[in-house]
Amino acid sequence: MSSDPGPRPRCGLSLLATALLALFGVAAACAAPPASPAFSGDRALALIRSQCELGPRTPGSEGNRKVREMVVATARRAGLRVVEQKFTVPLGPKGAPVEACNVIVSAGPDGGRRLWLAAHFDTRPWADQDPVVARRREPVLGANDGGSGTAVLLHLVELLAAAPPPQGIDLLFLDAEDSGQPHDAMGFCRGSRHLAEGLGAFGSPLDGTACRGLVLLDMVGKAGARIPQEGYSLALAPEWTAAVFERAAALGLDVFEPVHGRQVYDDHVPFLQAGIPAVDLIDFDDPHWHTTADRPEHCSAATLAQVGRLVVDLAYRP
Ligand SMILES: [Zn+2]
Repeated sequence: MSSDPGPRPRCGLSLLATALLALFGVAAACAAPPASPAFSGDRALALIRSQCELGPRTPGSEGNRKVREMVVATARRAGLRVVEQKFTVPLGPKGAPVEACNVIVSAGPDGGRRLWLAAHFDTRPWADQDPVVARRREPVLGANDGGSGTAVLLHLVELLAAAPPPQGIDLLFLDAEDSGQPHDAMGFCRGSRHLAEGLGAFGSPLDGTACRGLVLLDMVGKAGARIPQEGYSLALAPEWTAAVFERAAALGLDVFEPVHGRQVYDDHVPFLQAGIPAVDLIDFDDPHWHTTADRPEHCSAATLAQVGRLVVDLAYRP
């Protein structure tokens, strides 16, 4: 069963009323479906810069705490519900525990089959893919990797405040995604695993049975981005993945390419393992990935605008 209200009604005005409205030049506005709020790629790019001005946002750092505070403050200003889910990760010196925190922001009606939108807000502690070997111990600024998905969701929070959506939406701002070592998947995606493994359990901020689908945004800001259908999404949630890409095609968003992409172990995987339909929207072919060059100047308002348009459409047209 679904609480989806279905397509928005077409304009039901009588011919006479339509003619009268046409006289005043408003018929064209009526013929179009009610407008979803307009997503601004420029605003999303500014929100990437705001995050990067905080410095690296590795778990336990001041930058991490400040970006989390930015998320919470933005959501509270918007009048949305906020839950912080704290946990620890062994990322301190000699594996000492460090506090991490997922932030869940909820909008729209309570209950029902809900849309989940997710991004990680932490950044990688080491630029281990940097072409300059001497810089590989430096932290990644994470404009695209961490910053871009978070920026899209932060701007969506602003839009949700202005225009409440017709369905329940939970935005998952995830911590501790990017502190793993190569060839150790369990070192990655710690925040999403913590959230997904506790779905529906006592004290969990989310009920897994109430999700109609999750969309993960990761590395969605590169200039000239091309986002294929990520491999795990396609294998384990083919219908949801197809539905999201069909929506992008219907909107004419050419950043999204319905071709088979590589598998990326990312924050959607723990949710797929928990039985949640989840799709990872990611352009993994970024030459600045896990380097010190992952900076705002390589991100694009045009790319962010397309990603944002898709997310807004999914949010406002269930
Ligand atoms: Zn990363």
